[in-house]
Amino acid sequence: MTLVESRNINNKADFKEALINPNAPQGGLYSPLNLPYFDGEKYSELSYNDFALKLIESFEFGYEELFKKALQSYEKFDHHSAIELKKIDDKIYINELWHGPTRAFKDMALQPFGVLLNEFSKDKKILIMCATSGDTGPATLKSFENLENIRVACMYPNGGTSSLQELQMRALDKDNLKVLAIEGNFDDTQRILKNLLSKEEFRKNLKIQDYELCAANSVNFGRILFQIIYHYYASLKLWNEFKEKVEIIVPSGNFGNALGAYYAKKMGAKIAKIKIASNANNILSEFFNEGVYDLRDKILKKTISPAMDILISSNIERLLFDKFGDLRTNELMNLLKNQNYFTLNQKELQSLQEDFEADFCEDNECMRFIKESKTLIDPHTATCFKMLDISKPSIITSTAEWTKFTPSMIKAIFERDCIDEKEDFRLLAKKFNLEIKEEISKLFDLNLKDKRVCKSEEVENEILEWMKK
Ligand SMILES: *Cc1c(COP(=O)(O)O)cnc(C)c1O
Repeated sequence: MTLVESRNINNKADFKEALINPNAPQGGLYSPLNLPYFDGEKYSELSYNDFALKLIESFEFGYEELFKKALQSYEKFDHHSAIELKKIDDKIYINELWHGPTRAFKDMALQPFGVLLNEFSKDKKILIMCATSGDTGPATLKSFENLENIRVACMYPNGGTSSLQELQMRALDKDNLKVLAIEGNFDDTQRILKNLLSKEEFRKNLKIQDYELCAANSVNFGRILFQIIYHYYASLKLWNEFKEKVEIIVPSGNFGNALGAYYAKKMGAKIAKIKIASNANNILSEFFNEGVYDLRDKILKKTISPAMDILISSNIERLLFDKFGDLRTNELMNLLKNQNYFTLNQKELQSLQEDFEADFCEDNECMRFIKESKTLIDPHTATCFKMLDISKPSIITSTAEWTKFTPSMIKAIFERDCIDEKEDFRLLAKKFNLEIKEEISKLFDLNLKDKRVCKSEEVENEILEWMKK
């Protein structure tokens, strides 16, 4: 199968090209023109990795041996099947996607993605750039640490991530990895990334040093692919138990995870509805409820679920494309660019609502869900509970381990401020009888005293200087 650009299907790329250079000519995103049908029930007895391989093969991208190798990266996860599906009520499961090395669902895609990119770039050198609101950064850095032909430059909004996420990144500041704190919020950081990716002069300067540029953000189809599998796999387990279609609730920001659920549904997974959970930055719930994507007068709010503090939700474009085709997608994306909003017609909105529901959760509601939960759930996962209907078989998608968000957990559970993060972290672990990974607990000993914060106009130079080393 070849992939096509969401704004013009005449622009095509095979899987490898789209993975190495995700920048399509007209500014759109490479996407499948038609998703393949996949008969998951036939494979419901398989292990997660074997099931994953079958699902990937249904796309007919080729590279079967390589995909097999890529999926082996799940073997270092701390659960035998990469994900852990936990029953919390008669019909309710939590799908824990954070058993990888950086304790967030980003590892599900970035661990195998690293293997693919490393292989595809055997005969050239690559600079991977990423912008992160907290979890993509550590997962990308971890995926590429100590590789010879790959460098990573990772930007995050200063103060826009949890402190543990920042420590995770700083701990990975190795020879081939560069970590930059940016003055501004996540949308600002993402804008710097987009500008650099499309800047000819920057590319030329990298070329002089023999490097090509690549983006590892969730717009890369090579990541989306791995985010289809766990939704399909989990919904199949519930289908086998209840013989009823399931609801999947997904804490959403850039819409990569939820898009994976949508693709799974289109491929044949027994999914009734995909429920999109947002935080106070509720642009997605407005979109799915009213059919308007409106950036006017919206200011990004800082919440206790920073990975969802996003207004420009990039993967919505792939949904528009799948539903309404390239011409309409191009038209809507141009409207968004030129007038900062677009409106769907009634029929289009109805079509979205056949597959999706959406709502948002303010911080105080989230904290209540954290406090009332019997197990520790992180602030992102907590946004799901508002939309939970316990009379229906449902999967709550859990996107991060609580360990990355100690101050918010303390505030929610003990209703006080966190004073010493390390101490409070231990306190929570003890209270809930949890074992803490050495990798996480030792991060608290890092010292960030001489951290530099970059202004947007300094980033390009900072990266080019580092590339000379
Ligand atoms: C990235 C992330 C999200 C949002 O996922 P999208 O694919 O961007 O919608 C939610 N929760 C956590 C913990 C994340 O790291």
